[in-house]
Amino acid sequence: MKIFNSLTRKKEEFQPIEEGKVRMYACGPTVYNYIHVGNARPLIVFDVLRRYLEHKGFDVHFVQNFTDIDDKIIKRANEEGISSSEVAVKYTTEYFIDAEGLGVLPATVHPKATESIPDIIALVQKLIDNGFAYEAGGDVYFRTDKFKEYGKLSRQPLEDLESGARVDINDNKEAAMDFALWKAAKPGEPYWPSPWGDGRPGWHIECSAMSVRHLGTTIDIHCGGQDLIFPHHENEIAQSEAANGCRFVNYWMHNGFLSIDNKKMSKSLNNFFTVREAAKSYGYETIRMFMLSAHYRSPLNYSEESLLQAKAALQRLYTTDEHLAFLSNNALSEKITEEESEFLLSLSAYKERFEQAMDDDLNTADAVSVIFELVRAINSGCSPEKNPSSEFAALCRARLRDLTNILGLLYSRENSEDLAAEVETLIEARQQARAERNYAEADRIRDQLKEMGIILEDTHQGIKWKRA
Ligand SMILES: [Zn+2]
Repeated sequence: MKIFNSLTRKKEEFQPIEEGKVRMYACGPTVYNYIHVGNARPLIVFDVLRRYLEHKGFDVHFVQNFTDIDDKIIKRANEEGISSSEVAVKYTTEYFIDAEGLGVLPATVHPKATESIPDIIALVQKLIDNGFAYEAGGDVYFRTDKFKEYGKLSRQPLEDLESGARVDINDNKEAAMDFALWKAAKPGEPYWPSPWGDGRPGWHIECSAMSVRHLGTTIDIHCGGQDLIFPHHENEIAQSEAANGCRFVNYWMHNGFLSIDNKKMSKSLNNFFTVREAAKSYGYETIRMFMLSAHYRSPLNYSEESLLQAKAALQRLYTTDEHLAFLSNNALSEKITEEESEFLLSLSAYKERFEQAMDDDLNTADAVSVIFELVRAINSGCSPEKNPSSEFAALCRARLRDLTNILGLLYSRENSEDLAAEVETLIEARQQARAERNYAEADRIRDQLKEMGIILEDTHQGIKWKRA
């Protein structure tokens, strides 16, 4: 598999540190609000990366942190008149509701900053001891000019950064580009005791501390949004490499920006949607489908039109999937025929092309196109007119599910078995009523089904139902 490495700006063959194992870290949310649609993009695309690596047989150890202490959380706590930890707990719970809705699997570990304070303090102390950090007025700063490779990820030489940086006179820093590892406590803020007095960690240090704790000093993949490259990821590299004396990350992966109606997402433009709001309008799985419709590094535009397109595309997948389920349950014959076996063999070409697309730097846009080609092939090769055997219909469905599962699609109706049972009972009752020439009752049941959003269709294999 080839991965575009943001550090080298090249597609590179993926070679894990340890055979068969992938150590992967993604910067998680700051839990002070509901996540917005821009946050959903890295969540979904790197969930697909993780699923695909697992599909390839890797044992993936995936860490995604929660920043649960931060200026924004403190501000929100003051606004709501509750504690910072209450804010963090509340929005961590809300995060998991959205992540599950989006079909994002939980990480192997979800460490929290506030639960990693001893690791953070030890790491800051190590950086002070080796001269890469200094204490000043209860704060601790990273000494950027001592880390010679500072700026290597964002490709901005330190001199350029320094000339553009402003120095705040209230700062205790030695140099403009130095950044806080530890912040002295201010009145009314949560704090933890440390060798430098009461305080709390800076934002960047937590990822370096959690990464080494859960994955070791060098990891395979670190991913996140493009907006995190500078300063967050640049600072993570400086901290980790200065402390551990070895390479921090082998492959850096960053997803492209999400714009809203071709404009940058911002609070002032009032185009700042939460995932919760978007899911109310289109459904969670539509958002997932939309995010996978583009390559993860391309810019992506969120608009009503593009979301409706994604919804229709998803509907097409479900229609074929449910159609195949119906055929496999209601076929007139059971055993697969020779002709059907041959057709099934021809479908393996789609899986190969799907994997080629995914192996090429996780090209989900092409992978999704291949799925639709597969759907077209199945729709013609396994149509009701051809009276497919139940085994054949079931195997076609398995071929489709093979690929959709890798992208984590077709999950939101999986729990609709109850509905299916209810609908089938009603269909039987209607057939019974018709057999007894009780047409009023038959019509009543048809109307009831219609109200449930179910449409009936007569086919060779009997009455078929589908969602309107
Ligand atoms: Zn991070």
